[in-house]
Parts: sequence; structure tokens; C-alpha cells
Amino acid sequence: MAKTKSDRNDSDVDRDLYSGLIRLHVLHHAAEEPIFGLGMAEELARHGYRISPGTLYPLLHSLEKKGYLRSTQQRNGKSIRTVYRATPMGRRALAAARNKVKELFRELIEGH
Ligand SMILES: [Zn+2]
Repeated sequence: MAKTKSDRNDSDVDRDLYSGLIRLHVLHHAAEEPIFGLGMAEELARHGYRISPGTLYPLLHSLEKKGYLRSTQQRNGKSIRTVYRATPMGRRALAAARNKVKELFRELIEGH
């Protein structure tokens, strides 16, 4: 296959390819417990996704704007931080995505 986009670096490719997975990952954790930006960045790094605050915060905002997450301000010592939880709509979206991920998993990992 011709390398027509050889000027693109790996992180660009990763962002395109994995952005949906990252969103689902964020939604999954927000459905389990309140999440905040830095903690989520660390969690994603643990899974091998390097994601900068400049990418993560807009992502959280867009998930909130779509109605999947709701943010509240939480006092943490002297500072205030924004925490996010999945909304009922976010949980429904996650449940629907779970089936699609399951299907993809079957093809990618189990080969059928
Ligand atoms: Zn995780």
C-alpha cells in the first residue's frame, strides 16, 4: 500500500484510531465512580494511551455537552476540582457500545 500520508506521525494516527476507545474508556470509569481530568489521564496512561490535558479536557467537555457526563465542582483541600459522572444517558450509550465492542472483540481477538 502506498504511503500517501507518511508525514503523519504515530500520535496523529493513534488519536484518530483510538479516540472512540478513549471516549468509551472515560465513560466506563465515569459510570463506576466520579472521575477528574488528571486521574483519568493517569488511568489512560496505565492502559498505554498517552493523552495530554489539551486533548483530554476538551474530550470531557464534549462528552458533557452531548449529555453523557455531568460535572460538579468538588473541594479538594484548598483547591476545587471538576469531577465528572456518567448520566443515565451516558450509561445507556455505554450499554449499547458494550455490544459493539463485544462484536469487534470477537472478530479481532477470537477471529470470527
Ligand atoms: Zn481503565
